[in-house]
Amino acid sequence: MSTGRLTIDLDALAANWRALDAVSAPTVETAAVVKANGYGLGIGPVARKLAAQGVRRFFVAVAEEGQMLRRALGDGVEINVFSGHMPGDTEILRQLNLVPMINSIDQMLVHAETLPGHPFGVQLDTGMNRLGMEPGEWAALRDIALDLGPTLLMSHLACADDPDHPMNRHQLQTFREMTDGLDVPRSLSATGGILLGPEFHFEVTRPGIGLYGALPFEEAQPVAYLDLPVIQTREIAAGETVGYGNSWTAPHPATIATLSGGYADGIHRIMGPKTAFFAGEIPCPVRGRISMDLIGVDVTHLEDIPDTLTLLGHQQGVDQLADNAGTIGYEILTSLGNRFTRRQIG
Ligand SMILES: *Cc1c(COP(=O)(O)O)cnc(C)c1O
Repeated sequence: MSTGRLTIDLDALAANWRALDAVSAPTVETAAVVKANGYGLGIGPVARKLAAQGVRRFFVAVAEEGQMLRRALGDGVEINVFSGHMPGDTEILRQLNLVPMINSIDQMLVHAETLPGHPFGVQLDTGMNRLGMEPGEWAALRDIALDLGPTLLMSHLACADDPDHPMNRHQLQTFREMTDGLDVPRSLSATGGILLGPEFHFEVTRPGIGLYGALPFEEAQPVAYLDLPVIQTREIAAGETVGYGNSWTAPHPATIATLSGGYADGIHRIMGPKTAFFAGEIPCPVRGRISMDLIGVDVTHLEDIPDTLTLLGHQQGVDQLADNAGTIGYEILTSLGNRFTRRQIG
């Protein structure tokens, strides 16, 4: 077997959910966001573990994800869909009993006409300018929407990973102006918002990334571990080069291990120069360009060459790798490829 091994620590995932749940008052419902295949870690195992912790409400980006989730979890949990009620969604929403977060007057009309009596929430735009009704639209539609009995009023913070950003308070205030006194459960905060404090919690919180062990939840336990097998090892002389474009020239005789894995597995080329693999505690730098399926790593200084080297582990986490690639943990996790052998522990 030459594929990398991605290990998903479901106990750590569960501990992260409990820790985020404990940040808010016991009356606040902590839901879970499992879009993009559970942030790349596998929607089925992730959602089943969270349901076993007591999660009763899940959020996905699109109806098709809700369909997969319903099949994984069965009835008895609420599945909310951020993209709302899109053309072509009606049958899926109905058959699988998914709750669309209605984003516009158009969606509201389609929903009321095609699925009368079917539960829905409303997404409000408090300044991010991405999804949801703006204050003007909401003012026009509010009384009609409230008559139809929405199950949730939600909005999303644009800058919650930066606690001092004035946008946080601005959006909080706008959300309150749009929803105070309406007697419908409200939700404003994802992981970052939960950490901003109780004013941001309302009745339902929606953590995603913190569950999967990445920033802005600094205390998160790591959830994903990745090891790649060594396919071949070779001795090279000083002056020889490694990989496409001859981008690395050995300054001295070196031992290079060729690992199975590459950018097609989400190990982005750009992280190469700053990234090491680990043999236990010993870093082994990437040499030459990361290719689609293979990566050269310097193991000159190792006494024994192990069968596998670690990319994600206690030595180097998702956020470090994200830094190396100039991106965020979300993108590292959701890029993890489907060639890996996936194994859940816990
Ligand atoms: C992705 C998403 C979340 C979860 O955000 P995290 O930062 O991963 O916790 C919550 N709400 C909405 C609308 C989202 O798009």
